[in-house]
Amino acid sequence: MHVVVLGAGVVGVATAYNLARDGHDVTVIEREAGPAMGCSHANAGLINGHTAVPWSAPGIPAMVLKEFWRDDAPYRVRLRADPAMALWIARFFGNCTPARTREIKARLRRLSTYSFERLQALRAAENIDYDAQTNGLIYLYRDPDALGAAQQAAAAGSDPRAHPIRLSLEETLEREPALRRTTCRYAGALLYDKDETGDARLFTEGLSRAAVQRGARFLFGQPVTAIRTEGNKVCGVGMAEGDLDADAVVVAAGTGSARLLGPFGVRLPVYPVKGYSATVEAGDRSTLPRHALQDVQRKITMTPLGSRLRAAGTAELAGHNTTIDARRAGVLHTHMRAMLPDAAGDAVPTYWAGLRPMTPDSLPILGATPVDGLWLNTGHGSLGWTMACGSGRVIADLVAGKPSPINLDGLSLR
Ligand SMILES: Cc1cc2nc3c(=O)[nH]c(=O)nc-3n(C[C@H](O)[C@H](O)[C@H](O)COP(=O)(O)OP(=O)(O)OC[C@H]3O[C@@H](n4cnc5c(N)ncnc54)[C@H](O)[C@@H]3O)c2cc1C
Repeated sequence: MHVVVLGAGVVGVATAYNLARDGHDVTVIEREAGPAMGCSHANAGLINGHTAVPWSAPGIPAMVLKEFWRDDAPYRVRLRADPAMALWIARFFGNCTPARTREIKARLRRLSTYSFERLQALRAAENIDYDAQTNGLIYLYRDPDALGAAQQAAAAGSDPRAHPIRLSLEETLEREPALRRTTCRYAGALLYDKDETGDARLFTEGLSRAAVQRGARFLFGQPVTAIRTEGNKVCGVGMAEGDLDADAVVVAAGTGSARLLGPFGVRLPVYPVKGYSATVEAGDRSTLPRHALQDVQRKITMTPLGSRLRAAGTAELAGHNTTIDARRAGVLHTHMRAMLPDAAGDAVPTYWAGLRPMTPDSLPILGATPVDGLWLNTGHGSLGWTMACGSGRVIADLVAGKPSPINLDGLSLR
């Protein structure tokens, strides 16, 4: 069977790899010049295998409204006359109840835990170097009450791998000496030692090479303009340079997915949510943190990636616009210098902005569409690196006519 995968981000490449491994004839079509040039390029690098949580949660609407005018606020909405944005916000706020948050979290964990296992298996099979860090993630709290509440909530979960180790400030500094000269005032931290980090771009590039070795083809610099059908069955795709026939098409085009589905009456609730990162080369590797560190209140993450340190965060609703706002990006570098002055040093950062393909409930959309042979693997939002390997395996099984390896309740077209 000839399967065409649209998009060479981490999700599309993980799909293509699994399909090629199963023996299908696979072509990946990507509008950019190479893999991982979209949202998978320079993200925070967290693999929240056991700690995935939705963005929608009680308290978030109040926080967004309170910090609406602040330039350095973690969340920002650039209001515009865009019905898709208005609808997305309304649905997002509707998901911020305790009951919905619990339900969504359970669904996210189902996929993220499975995906974590797939990543481990794939790492062993393909030997891809992606600056992996396996010491875990440390969430730093400024407010002791918030720290206590977060620990209680996490410890109540049924999966012991998601139970954190609570650290006093002294214990935090012992485990993470890179924080010794921080000017941020932390009360303590939670360590999740089963989770990992790594560079999603390096991984995607390595996995695309592994897919090519298994027979997959990549067509770069080719925007897909249409998905072609005969009756209610997919038969190929249209590109500026001509048509390509296919027996099945998987849409893994991130924030470009909704536009491709429109002609079939499928309204994908995937909206772009912009985030930034700032990456520096550390002069001295021994100054880098051993874990990824998240400042919970500021929602900014510091991740060691080989010899580099990356600060990432912010969520901005501003349409399909990847322009780098110097003030928003600068906040990340300023925070890096305050949090980890030795590691940040005087190095000049490389700034990046990417668009998360975000659904209002933070859950991706996997599986069949009303069109025969047209499959979806999109909407992974803030957790696409975490969920890519599992999502790719799920889609490969469904395309082959097998049952999904995990329960897809709440994770398919809705
Ligand atoms: C600041 C920031 C921090 C993040 N941190 C984390 C993190 O720590 N952990 C985590 O799990 N996730 C994180 N994410 C989210 C993660 O990066 C995304 O969920 C993930 O990259 C999405 O992958 P994707 O393959 O679906 O999309 P993309 O990587 O965007 O790939 C989609 C591809 O499709 C192509 N495309 C689109 N339309 C067309 C078309 N018509 N024709 C041809 N090609 C097309 C695009 O060019 C693009 O290359 C973060 C995101 C941001 C912005």
